Amino acid sequence: LPRLPLFEAISQHNPKSTAVVHCLSGRSFTYGELLPDIYRARERLYDAAGRTNIEGERVAFLVENSYDYVVTFLAILAARAVALPLSPPFPAPELQYIISHAEALLLVHSPKFAAKVNEVLSTAWPEASPNPNPKVVEIPKHMGVSSSSSSNTGSPYYEAVSLSEGSDAGQAAMMLYTSGTTNRPKGVLIPESALTAQSSALKQAWRYTPEDRLLHVLPLHHIHGTVNAVITPLLAGSTIEFLFPFNADAVWRRFANPFLEADPAAPAATNGSVNGNDAADKFANMRREKITFFTVVPTVYTRLISTHKLLEQSPATARFAEACRKAVSPEHMRVSISGSAALPTPVKRAWKELSLGNVLLERYGMTEVGMALSCGLDFGDRIDGSVGWPLPGVQARLVETDEETNTATVILPGEETDPVTGKERQGEIQLRGANVFSEYWRNPAATAKEFVPADPQDPDQRRWFKTGDVAVRRPVPESAVARGVSKSGDWVTAATAAAAGGATTNNNTMYFILGRQSADIIKSGGEKVSALEVEREMLSLPEVSECAVLAVPSGKWGQKVGAVVILDGEFVAGGGSWKPMDMRRALKGRLANYKIPQILRVVDNIPRNAMGKINKKELVKAVFSDDF
Ligand code: ATP
Ligand code: MG
Repeated sequence: LPRLPLFEAISQHNPKSTAVVHCLSGRSFTYGELLPDIYRARERLYDAAGRTNIEGERVAFLVENSYDYVVTFLAILAARAVALPLSPPFPAPELQYIISHAEALLLVHSPKFAAKVNEVLSTAWPEASPNPNPKVVEIPKHMGVSSSSSSNTGSPYYEAVSLSEGSDAGQAAMMLYTSGTTNRPKGVLIPESALTAQSSALKQAWRYTPEDRLLHVLPLHHIHGTVNAVITPLLAGSTIEFLFPFNADAVWRRFANPFLEADPAAPAATNGSVNGNDAADKFANMRREKITFFTVVPTVYTRLISTHKLLEQSPATARFAEACRKAVSPEHMRVSISGSAALPTPVKRAWKELSLGNVLLERYGMTEVGMALSCGLDFGDRIDGSVGWPLPGVQARLVETDEETNTATVILPGEETDPVTGKERQGEIQLRGANVFSEYWRNPAATAKEFVPADPQDPDQRRWFKTGDVAVRRPVPESAVARGVSKSGDWVTAATAAAAGGATTNNNTMYFILGRQSADIIKSGGEKVSALEVEREMLSLPEVSECAVLAVPSGKWGQKVGAVVILDGEFVAGGGSWKPMDMRRALKGRLANYKIPQILRVVDNIPRNAMGKINKKELVKAVFSDDF
């Protein structure tokens, strides 16, 4: 077997149980099919490369969210090459940049993207491209269909595989580009050992099991979609259903599907809408097993909530809307997770109401470290605004910087409050552990900048990674204390707490993210304002549907707080409008005066990237440059 424990786990799962489902066609693929298909796909890679050792070579791939994606991805891992998933909607020059920057040996694609690949290849490569000509491999559609029989357990294939001698676990398994929210995306090299640490921590913390069925609606070129929602469920033997691109109607229909069968009267009159069950029903082949696991970005919940509102308002779909509620209730949807960007509290509350009590689980992570902090499985641990505590094997600390003296101080447990001012101390989150990446691809300067060199006094010589995100720590809730999880969080065992050394664990505290140092911490007239905190308050106003709070350069204040707002549709339809004065009046009493935005722009659209995130540097230029 290849080195990654993932392969051993896959070989041990029940071969008859379902690994992957294509949600719209209902077509499914078993764990028994998976390994033989992986090894067959790996042969194709070897053939294309003209050799059977491609360890450490980057293999870029462009495959739709499907079984074929999983097979291709794992075939690259099985070859111990570096898997580089590409994003299909990227324009050709952007793909070219990544392929060339990564010096990909191979470019694998599915038939669907043949034209796109031609476009990439026929565009002139940027000057001084290190590797302008990757070898192109087209994989056949539905690789699983060609397997000789469904009872095939794969043994003849995986037994034939041997590990190369002397290969080290530090070898990169995957290369992902960051979301590019603050700058041009950076290539992050993720070692095999980190991939293993990240996925086994999530399996343990979120208790993925073979009974879990995850609906997957995210892009597959980011850590959230790949590690949290593909590698980890495969490690646990769960089932992944792909439904991409995200479509709120289709997601609701899939959630409700098992419950419509139980109550045949449920899909009321149709007129071709989402609950339709006529011959033209494009969702007719969806499976009936209930979805138990869902992990997405906050904007997905926002869209599901507004679609559900519409379903509920129309008499034709009101009963369908009831089935939707049931499907996402705590009784049926075991875990619903939000992450990759801050979850606005009003969205969390609205989801709780919609779902008859399901409290969203928030977690925090990034491309460079996978998931680092997470709330627990108990609803009582999911405190509004908190992303929880360190996952198994992860060490976290907060580091405060005194700007005048430029000195960094670790905020030790129990010292979260400044004894002089009585204020909460804010610090940058720093992380270390087996989950952390090794380096930015071909960017030693960035790598050096983002790590704190090891302290010679520290017996643990691993470097701390500087996340660039600022947070505070607060005590875990009383309810958790009462359940006896206070000392450790739900999953931190005595052993991991001890290994982390008392000084750096936050045994009885939770983390609250204030935002990115570079974009969300607004320094206005000597005060620090967290954009996320202001956004949270603004979003709880009935007039506001979406917003972004930005640092606007100001001669007088250094920076001032600016707000970009999309007004609520009903409010506007009812003749409502918003002037800066209205905003200030609405926020008075909710926020300290210096936190209330000084300038306001009402817009129709706030641009977001594939992960629903806002590039604030660009937005501030686009919206407020007149005020600079
Ligand atoms: P780039 O590094 O290219 O600017 P990016 O940082 O958005 O892009 P990712 O690695 O995909 O790329 O995202 C990680 C970042 O997402 C974190 O550093 C943090 O700012 C943000 N983030 C992730 N989860 C949360 C969360 N639960 N709450 C608030 N912010 C979050
Ligand atoms: Mg980043």
